[in-house]
Amino acid sequence: CGIVGIVGQEPVAGRLVDALRRLEYRGYDSAGVATIHDGRLDRRRAEGKLFNLEKKLDEEPLPGIIGIAHTRWATHGVPNVTNAHPHFVDGVAVVHNGIIENFSELKDELVSDGAVFKSQTDTEVVAHLLAKYRREGMSQRQAMLAMLNRVAGAYALVVIFQDDPNTIMAARFGPPLAIGHGRGEMFLGSDAIALAPFTTEITYLVDGDCAIMTRNGVEIIDYDGEPLVRKSQISQAAA
Ligand code: GLU
Repeated sequence: CGIVGIVGQEPVAGRLVDALRRLEYRGYDSAGVATIHDGRLDRRRAEGKLFNLEKKLDEEPLPGIIGIAHTRWATHGVPNVTNAHPHFVDGVAVVHNGIIENFSELKDELVSDGAVFKSQTDTEVVAHLLAKYRREGMSQRQAMLAMLNRVAGAYALVVIFQDDPNTIMAARFGPPLAIGHGRGEMFLGSDAIALAPFTTEITYLVDGDCAIMTRNGVEIIDYDGEPLVRKSQISQAAA
């Protein structure tokens, strides 16, 4: 029930878990973090408290200067490691808060297309859709917009693509998402409180916004790819 992301200049895994801790008040049953390092996606996931995820990270550190992380409050599929986010399909990583209402229709379509699902979550359809659109030749951005035009429901969605270690993409329809502006680093989280240790300059996404975030800033577009103007503000959230 919480999301954070960092496209940074220094390792992100520790900072992502610290930020998730600031979202613990939202409740959760499992947690996970994914980064891109050495040209590939990698992740650690754990059932239960963040302590369990930290233990895994201690045993098996996760390098990488771009990453996304999630605390899950299960709606579709039991709380276990397999259903914990981030979900990976063919070089695409996805975290999601909310519910994809048309997931069973999308899942049927994807399965008859040959997709093999690993989890019981509604979220996994998002990763399969993105992977399918990439296979069909779409760019990361085209795939993101095509996916957003297919899914219905309530979501904060955050995506990284293995073949672009400089960009985090996100969209909001329902659950909140805030973008944090740093110096040569950009952040994203379910609220400004999660980002307060990193930055106080925040841009809130509005329903129907898609954000394309690099180290140098954020571009916000609608689901047709048209640019949107969203002003940043200084958050009063305490670090
Ligand atoms: N519906 C998704 C799941 O059950 C996301 C739940 C959440 O908001 O954490 O995995």
